[in-house]
Amino acid sequence: MSKHEKNVDQHVGELLSGLLDGELTQQQRQLVKLHCEICIECRENLENLRELRQRISDSRLSELGEDLWRENMNDKKVTTPRSIGWLMLIGGLLAIAGIFLIAFIFSGEIHIGMKVIIIAIYGGLATLLYSVLRQRLIEQKTDKYKDVEI
Ligand SMILES: [Zn+2]
Repeated sequence: MSKHEKNVDQHVGELLSGLLDGELTQQQRQLVKLHCEICIECRENLENLRELRQRISDSRLSELGEDLWRENMNDKKVTTPRSIGWLMLIGGLLAIAGIFLIAFIFSGEIHIGMKVIIIAIYGGLATLLYSVLRQRLIEQKTDKYKDVEI
């Protein structure tokens, strides 16, 4: 009957990947374009195909990023200042904590029960600090892979 219905009868599935690869003639491209305007099925196929290819090329890019990241790690230029900052901060906190801890432990005026409580508090703080650092390290590692799911 109408031109549109005739086009829907002839799906362009086999031309879709050719379109994405840029292998079609001007005429074929026009055919696919017109067909996709009226055929939801082929339009969705085209979108899915495009998305799939995008994912594949993204994953290639992230592999490349991974290599660059490794180079930077080897280089130490990027990560060292930040690591030193963390070490200084943590070292300073630990030093202060240690001084107070020793003062408490060796103080004759403080009851042994109180000492145990103070030690427990410092132990808890140290554990928290450790878990936060651990999580940061894990996040840093997994950041690179977050968007890749194939
Ligand atoms: Zn179709």
